Amino acid sequence: MKRWLAIAPLLWPALVIGLGDLYALTHYHLSCLIAPQWTVRSLGIVVLVAANLLLALSMAWQIGRTAAITRRLRRLDRLESVHRERLALPELDGVEIRVIPEDVPMLFTVGGWRSVIGVSRWMLDHLDPAELRAAFAHELAHVQHRDGFLMLLLRGLCPWGFGVKGLRSGLEGVAHALELRADAIAASRVADPLAVASALVKVGRASQSWRPAMAFADPSMRLKERVAALMDGAAPPQPPRFWEQPVWMAWGLLSLAAWLGFVGHLCVRGLV
Ligand SMILES: [Zn+2]
Repeated sequence: MKRWLAIAPLLWPALVIGLGDLYALTHYHLSCLIAPQWTVRSLGIVVLVAANLLLALSMAWQIGRTAAITRRLRRLDRLESVHRERLALPELDGVEIRVIPEDVPMLFTVGGWRSVIGVSRWMLDHLDPAELRAAFAHELAHVQHRDGFLMLLLRGLCPWGFGVKGLRSGLEGVAHALELRADAIAASRVADPLAVASALVKVGRASQSWRPAMAFADPSMRLKERVAALMDGAAPPQPPRFWEQPVWMAWGLLSLAAWLGFVGHLCVRGLV
């Protein structure tokens, strides 16, 4: 399925709330917050305020969690240049890579617009050079396509799928599609799908059910399907499209502006 078709349904609840905000901004004028009269209209406002609060809290949670993980990573040592050279991925040059001094399998990309890659000592010690290169090529694909930013936006604007099963599985579907794309890009970049598959299997078998941001091979991430897709040898996906990220950015900023406008209106004039 086209990625746009998978993403659009996840955004409509936030769109409906944004439209509700615009309607409230243009139709309600007098304050009833101090002495509310409980009419159907004021109940509608309460629902709208609750929906806005939910979205604002969800965005704040996603941003705060990402910022906290990024901050913790940035306190760690950078990946030694000897390891960087062995990876032989020149596109990684400007990318920040930090080493987690833990003997557990961890490799993930975290961050909003500017991503950081975290890699554990276990990964550096247990993967052979071809597997390590393939695993980093996978993370590089997430960095270049800003997949973490897209998922942050989607999880923020569609918190836990609003408890709707279809939306929850839609979120998982988009995350899975991004993993498949990163696998395919990595396979094509290192010209070795087997290296990607073998890294996935090795890390997946040793992983625990802990998933920080975009983890490389969490067992819950449908590893069998990913390995099968690599073995099918599908055509490598398109490079990042320059217009996609500004569109997501504009969507996030517009939603934020609508909420702020609504909240500002509440503070200044109140609503009937
Ligand atoms: Zn990934």
